[in-house]
Amino acid sequence: MTQTSVIYRIDANNQLIDVDENWDRFALANDSPQLVRALVVRKPLFELISDPLSGHLYKLLIERVKHTGKTISFKFRCDSPAMRRYMHMEMVRQVENDGVCFKSTTEREEPREPVELLAPHAKRSDDLVIICSWCKRVKVSEDQWLDIEQGIQRLGLFDAEVLPQLSHGMCPDCNKSIWSNLIQ
Ligand SMILES: [Zn+2]
Repeated sequence: MTQTSVIYRIDANNQLIDVDENWDRFALANDSPQLVRALVVRKPLFELISDPLSGHLYKLLIERVKHTGKTISFKFRCDSPAMRRYMHMEMVRQVENDGVCFKSTTEREEPREPVELLAPHAKRSDDLVIICSWCKRVKVSEDQWLDIEQGIQRLGLFDAEVLPQLSHGMCPDCNKSIWSNLIQ
């Protein structure tokens, strides 16, 4: 497939000032009609990031880009239940408005059997499973994180009637990669 990028910009106050035409396509493909362009422009970027840990890390990365002028790039996953989506992000300072331009590129997509654990409306128990906000691997033991399909097998969730809730965390690999962007 050809790689598709979504480009958007924030101003000095971290408000979204501009999103390109691919934004809506991506929002709708991700089952997020509440995120279409008309509803997000001029909103604070952090209102659109539902997981607090990701929001916190994006805040640090944005400060870093603004203060150093250094371009930051990293890989991440933006999966939906039926699609593995391998993404690349680039964050560049915008000198003219003291803002940041984001370029989020879908490098590769792989269809799969839908993973119910990622379905937004699935019924949930009080149990928690930790999922890495960045790479979407799940924590299966103190020191092991597995791709979600393997994690589901390992945690015995394959034919569970009620699924656990997802709690967002960060695996050691992603933690290392994000912090290397923040301290270099
Ligand atoms: Zn990770």
